[in-house]
Order: sequence, then C-alpha cells, then structure tokens
Amino acid sequence: SYDTVAFLGLGNMGLPMAVNLATKSDYSVVAFDLSTHALNSAEKAGIRVAPSLEGIMDNPQTPPSMVITMLPSDAAVDSVMSILSSNAPPNTSFIDCSTVSPTTSRQWHDALAEKGCLFVDAPVSGGVKGAKDATLTFMVGSDSAKLAENWMIHCVLSYMGSRIIPCGGPGSGAAVKLCNNLALAAQMTGICEAMNLGEALGVDPNILSEVMNTSTAKSWSCEINNPHPTVAAATKSPASKDYQGGFSTKLMLKDLQLAVGAGRNNQVALPVGCAISELYNMADLRGLGDKDFGVLLQFLRGK
Ligand code: NAD
Repeated sequence: SYDTVAFLGLGNMGLPMAVNLATKSDYSVVAFDLSTHALNSAEKAGIRVAPSLEGIMDNPQTPPSMVITMLPSDAAVDSVMSILSSNAPPNTSFIDCSTVSPTTSRQWHDALAEKGCLFVDAPVSGGVKGAKDATLTFMVGSDSAKLAENWMIHCVLSYMGSRIIPCGGPGSGAAVKLCNNLALAAQMTGICEAMNLGEALGVDPNILSEVMNTSTAKSWSCEINNPHPTVAAATKSPASKDYQGGFSTKLMLKDLQLAVGAGRNNQVALPVGCAISELYNMADLRGLGDKDFGVLLQFLRGK
C-alpha cells in the first residue's frame, strides 16, 4: 500500500495543494485544520479528514510517513509541530510550506533531527493560482544529503508544483522566500509612487507603464501586476477588479515583518524594508489588508 501523507492547514493555499496531491497521486492523504469551514471544504473535495490534530499520529499501524504544513504564521507552525513531533516515529519527514522565519525552520530542523526525523522548509511562490494549477515553485532548505536520499519528498512536491529549487541548508528556503518578497514589496512601492507621480504630472498611465516596461523600470509589478486600475484592465490583474484576488496586503505585511525581524537579529540594516513595512502596516490599519498589495497606490493617494 502507498504511504500516508498528513496535510495540516487547508486555507487558500493548503486546500488546493492537498486536493492536487490526493487526486493525482497514489498517496493516501489525511488532513486537518482548526476551522470547521476549512474541514467541510476539504471533505467536499473528497479529502479524508482526521478527527483531531492528535489523531493524525494515533494510528499505530499506518502513521503518516510524511507531514506537510501550510499554516499562516510561526506561532501556528510551532503549535502544530509541537503536537505532531511529540509522538512521531523516527524517519517521519516534515515539510513546512508556510512562510515563516528561518530561525523557526532551523529550530524545528534541529529538534526533529534529534528524533531521527527530517524537517524541510519548503515555502512557495506562485500564489493561489499556482496552488490550484500545481505550478508552485518550492524553495527548499534542508540537510542536503538527507534530502537527496529521500526521493518521496521530491515526488510529493512534484504533484503540487512545477519547480523544486534546493536553496541550501536548513532555513535557507525560508530565507530565500523572505528576501524575494522584501525585494518584491520594494519594487511594488516604487512602481506605485511612479504611477502616482506620473498621473499627477498629467501623463497617461498607459503610456507611462508602456515606457517603463520597455526601459529600466520593467518589472513584475509594472508589467504583470500593475497597481493602476486603467493599466491593469488589459491584463485583468487585481487592480482592475478593485484589488480583489492576488497577494493580500496582510500577507505582504507579515512577510515584511519577518524580513525586518531577520534583519534585526542578524545586524543587517533594512532602511527601505522598515519604511515599506510601516507603509503596509498603515494600509492594513486603514482597512486595506485583504486587498492585493498593489492597493498601496490608492493608499498613497489618500484613499
Ligand atoms: P490561510 O489563512 O488561507 O490558511 C491557513 C489555514 O491554516 C487556515 O485554514 C487556518 O484555519 C489553518 N490553521 C491555523 N492555525 C492552525 C492550527 N494550529 N492547526 C491547524 N490548522 C490551522 O493562508 P494561506 O493563504 O493558505 O497561506 C498559508 C501560508 O502560505 C502562509 O504562511 C502564507 O504566507 C503562505 N503563502 C501564501 C500565498 C498566497 O498567495 N496566499 C503565497 C505564498 C505563500
């Protein structure tokens, strides 16, 4: 019989990932989430649901050989991992796909290594669309020798994503994810300020973005996810739909706070990171938290 994979955290990302794994592979998937709404959605999608978090490791005949977590925060990962790791048999693999601090990842890597288990940080990029289409990119940090031996990890991830990128030792996947999103937030902030100034100077936003996209300001935030509603209409990206869908301001704020914390802990100055973290904090406090992070353009305009 095929191995059992436990999946914890069935939110916007976790549910479609678990559905891809359960429906496309021969692994037996058992899932759990704290929210009854999430559990109901999972059952409707045909996923077997465990009665409790503690119940996941309870079955002594077939405990899961792999545990995947897709949780909102470091605190949620700590809470779930403390329960599951306490009675995990040796050789259980833990793959954490949540965006958390590299410190949290390294701590769990060390704690599990003592129990003869492997912990892998494997945060993702690609968003909800990538989760649904199974085209996520996994940024993988782990003990590379153990990872190379464990073919099941590669196999399981390939049912949910299209790129698996080894980033180095424990915590390196988490580190790469934070650095990417720090740079992305700075890029988006720059594009928002430029679009806002251009319009105030009487320039057509379509002309401005077209020129930027064929010159040195060309970027994902200008070309694919332009924050200006008029420009976004052509690509039907979030700004054209009142910033619905896309990557939320709240989640970007969380990632920026993790990056700023990592900078502080490692004596790395992040003057721009700190400023944009506060900008996103203000936008969230103003009630824009659930909108795509390009909504910063409206925030700059005082809306
Ligand atoms: P979400 O809030 O939609 O889902 C999180 C789920 O975890 C919820 O269903 C919640 O009930 C559950 N949960 C929380 N605490 C739990 C616990 N102790 N035990 C069991 N379940 C628990 O979040 P999401 O959008 O799915 O994101 C998940 C992670 O992926 C986050 O770390 C996020 O930063 C990261 N991420 C998200 C995106 C995106 O576009 N949404 C993209 C890349 C990475």
